[in-house]
Amino acid sequence: MQVLIPDHPLLGHKLTQLRDVATDRPTFRRLARELITLLAYEATRALRTEPAEIQTPVSPTTGVKLRMPAPVVVPVLRAGLGLLEGFLQILPEAEVGFLGIARDEHSLLPSIYAERLPRVLEERQVFVLDPMLATGGTLTATTRLMLDRKAQDVTCICLLASPEGIAAMERAFEGAGSLVRIVTASIDEGLNQKGYIIPGLGDAGDRLYGSI
Ligand code: URA
Repeated sequence: MQVLIPDHPLLGHKLTQLRDVATDRPTFRRLARELITLLAYEATRALRTEPAEIQTPVSPTTGVKLRMPAPVVVPVLRAGLGLLEGFLQILPEAEVGFLGIARDEHSLLPSIYAERLPRVLEERQVFVLDPMLATGGTLTATTRLMLDRKAQDVTCICLLASPEGIAAMERAFEGAGSLVRIVTASIDEGLNQKGYIIPGLGDAGDRLYGSI
């Protein structure tokens, strides 16, 4: 498994604003969108392309185009939805699948409550959007599902990750090499007793959409 933490001053600047408890909801949404676009730029480096013959106004030339079938992006409901628009900004060709996984507040174990995905993901490069890699339960289950459906590779894009979550993913996908990637703006200090990332940013879903 590969872990990538892109180093860019804008990521640090926007992430600090995002973490701030004083940041209001409209600003939080905008920052989440901007951060995911920056992360998606790095996360899509391994997209497959093929040669494309075109004609410019001046001469013929050979460029590149994305290889089909198109990549698939899967926001994990509900907080992952807040990252979808920012991702599609940079990869509008992606198809979109949806996955609802809830974390039981007590056991912290994930269970799928909604699924709208292409049945077969063979040869598809999959990008999973989830703002918080906390215990790793949700992303482990999601990534496993994508690999079971024969995804070509799976890249999880998270705004923040915990060391515990990274370790859980590493245990689950040991030996997967570049088949499984995590791209995140930060690996924070750890988890508190309620499973929240410290210092983190609180409940990403609540900050995007309000508490339920
Ligand atoms: N989910 C969140 O929204 N925040 C955390 O800190 C951990 C999980």
